[in-house]
Amino acid sequence: MKEFAPIPGSTILNSIEGKRMIIMATNTRVTTVARGIFRAAKDTDSAVFMELARSECDLKGGYTGLTPKAFSERVRKAAVDAECDVWALHADHITVKKGDAKEIDDTKKLIDAQIEAGYTSFAIDASHLFNFEGKNLREELNKNIQVTTELAKHIGKRMRGAEFGLEVEVGEIGRKDEHGLVLTKPEEAVVFIKALNENGVYPHVIAIANGSVHGNVYDEHGNVIEQVSINIPQTRAVAKGLRDNNLKVGIAQHGITGTPRELINTEFPKGDIIKGNVATHWQDIVFNVLKVYEPLLYKDMWNWTLETYRAKNPGKKDKEIFGSNCKFAIKEFFDRIYSVDEDTERAIEALVYAEALIFFRAFSSKGSANLVREKLG
Ligand SMILES: [Zn+2]
Repeated sequence: MKEFAPIPGSTILNSIEGKRMIIMATNTRVTTVARGIFRAAKDTDSAVFMELARSECDLKGGYTGLTPKAFSERVRKAAVDAECDVWALHADHITVKKGDAKEIDDTKKLIDAQIEAGYTSFAIDASHLFNFEGKNLREELNKNIQVTTELAKHIGKRMRGAEFGLEVEVGEIGRKDEHGLVLTKPEEAVVFIKALNENGVYPHVIAIANGSVHGNVYDEHGNVIEQVSINIPQTRAVAKGLRDNNLKVGIAQHGITGTPRELINTEFPKGDIIKGNVATHWQDIVFNVLKVYEPLLYKDMWNWTLETYRAKNPGKKDKEIFGSNCKFAIKEFFDRIYSVDEDTERAIEALVYAEALIFFRAFSSKGSANLVREKLG
């Protein structure tokens, strides 16, 4: 009997080497969406990552109200329900912002809990530890290299020889300076990965700053607009830089929500980008269904979010304040969101299933699950 347990992220990413495919990684902040995603993965024979970031899911529940253990149990159950066998359980953005001893220690405790809960893949994000006074790239990245190495070695030790996926990050996603979004240069990615390799750390995938932002993008009226800011030539250049230096690492594209799927399908450098994170999109589906099916719950979440976040967002329209901060209502209204009736859940699942089909198509991931099965023998 198959258990439909998660498999190592490394096995999935290594299996598509040389193929023009992107593996979708979904942040299921409300785990009700997991079954629809798994069903679409199974029906398209696509491998998939299930993930939540540290901000979303930590030992205290993050803003989704889920601990690593609770998240793991819920998505495993969804995998069993959908009979989906090729998926990884990934820790997205294990973010370290200061890099002091206390933060590193707390981070190791989080990682231990993730491993205990059966995670098979990890993204260390120490990209905030950028030294603006550094005299060269190596000096600028030194702290990121140091912290990423320490945490990667900790994961290796605690996994006791078991395979696992490793994602690292250089260039904080969405960071802006006076000229606009700061993009990762090819040399930066090369210096970073080379230094990690010298330290005995071999990531499978690297997240870079390439023009995307997390979450939706809004116009001046507070309406969601399409995101077309991902710099594709720069992304190709980073991938080429890594390849030219014989560094075997693909690119993880973060912040895909809002990017037109036809653009992903025809313009994204599939194979250079090998992992694509989609997070806010699934949350938007849940909230749009609740708006119709559970008007009272939706109204309470709307009021709570605006009361809590209006003062912090002067000059912004209510629609944008709600859109950008409704994620924090998930924990606040946890019990009500997870006790909606089956009509509501059916509508969420149906929409999620259809949307996941479109993403898998745009990512060309059909058949990737079988490549993984072949690799597993
Ligand atoms: Zn991200």
